Amino acid sequence: MESLVARIAATGPVSVADFMDAACSHYYAQGTAFGTQGDFTTAPEISQMFGEMIAACLADAWMQAGKPEKVQLIELGPGRGTLAADVMRTFAVWPDLAKAASLHLVETSPALRDQQAKTLEKYPDVHWHERLEDVPEGFTLLMANEFFDALPIRQFEKLADGWAEKAVGFDAEKDAFFFTTLPLEDIAAIPPDFQDSAPGSVFETGPASLAVMETLAARIEEQDGLALVFDYGHAGPALGDTLQSLRRHEYTKVLENVGEQDVTAHVDFSALGAAAGNALVHGPVTQHDFLGALGIAQRAQALAAKASPKQRMDIERALYRLTAPSEMGHLFKVLGLTRGQGRIRPAGFDATTDGSAR
Ligand code: SAH
Repeated sequence: MESLVARIAATGPVSVADFMDAACSHYYAQGTAFGTQGDFTTAPEISQMFGEMIAACLADAWMQAGKPEKVQLIELGPGRGTLAADVMRTFAVWPDLAKAASLHLVETSPALRDQQAKTLEKYPDVHWHERLEDVPEGFTLLMANEFFDALPIRQFEKLADGWAEKAVGFDAEKDAFFFTTLPLEDIAAIPPDFQDSAPGSVFETGPASLAVMETLAARIEEQDGLALVFDYGHAGPALGDTLQSLRRHEYTKVLENVGEQDVTAHVDFSALGAAAGNALVHGPVTQHDFLGALGIAQRAQALAAKASPKQRMDIERALYRLTAPSEMGHLFKVLGLTRGQGRIRPAGFDATTDGSAR
């Protein structure tokens, strides 16, 4: 993190967004984030059933579109490649789809690209890209799990005399980062409804997330297809400081172990949906409702029927972690994106899909 410290020493505190960008890039570059040995466990790392449900939803969309002969299967931020591998394996159920699909991974960390290549070594048609813009055109099936939460957010804080941008400084004597504020250039960054909030209130925006969402929506409009976004967060605009950090499965202080721990923020699904332009937004529905509608309980039963007693317990435990409201079931949400005038109606969104979107 020397370059961040040097930058702060030279030009003063940086915005929370610039801090998060530097800390997360450094962190993901090491490739040590995932699994029991790492800092956190994501849904695809919990169970193959997660990827199987996603594969079923994507395959259904492909069939609704008339089984296009060329499919770009894209994943944003694939981590260890586990979800992509589970989806590719499940696509074998539909041989024409398995044949049609090229896999495109949008990943910036070289260490994680290496891990993904190992996980996916039996699939010849895998390509890596720095940005979604670089993926070749074609009918699109896209997934992103815990990708948007890792993109930098800006934070604004209401002080006694008005709104300011939260920032991070560095105290050389104490050898420690600290939170501070910078003058806010443009009050329009704060939605009118929140401008009169009480001192101490925090408002967040994710400019990087919104930019990816705009690109994604434009791609779905042009190429047709389905995008599925999974993340934890809130369905409507909200105040609150959601910046958090995890190290070895424990919550930590965001400004400690900088670059050595996972720093994320809750995703504002209403802001993502609003950035989707003419594309049709489905949900967000809870992960509980989405996986339930796609039949995860039945899949768990089928797997359990062939399993040893120990495996049966693991399957039950995984189902619980993925869907129980007190686990990932309610906090995690799923947003779908299809072409505005298209015919795809993705499975899994019936629970709360707004009637006007159908
Ligand atoms: N989807 C995986 C990993 C989530 S962690 C899972 O569910 O297990 C976030 C992932 O996004 C990592 O692979 C990280 O390297 C990648 N990432 C973070 N910022 C990125 C960016 N700006 N562009 C591309 N990938 C990014």
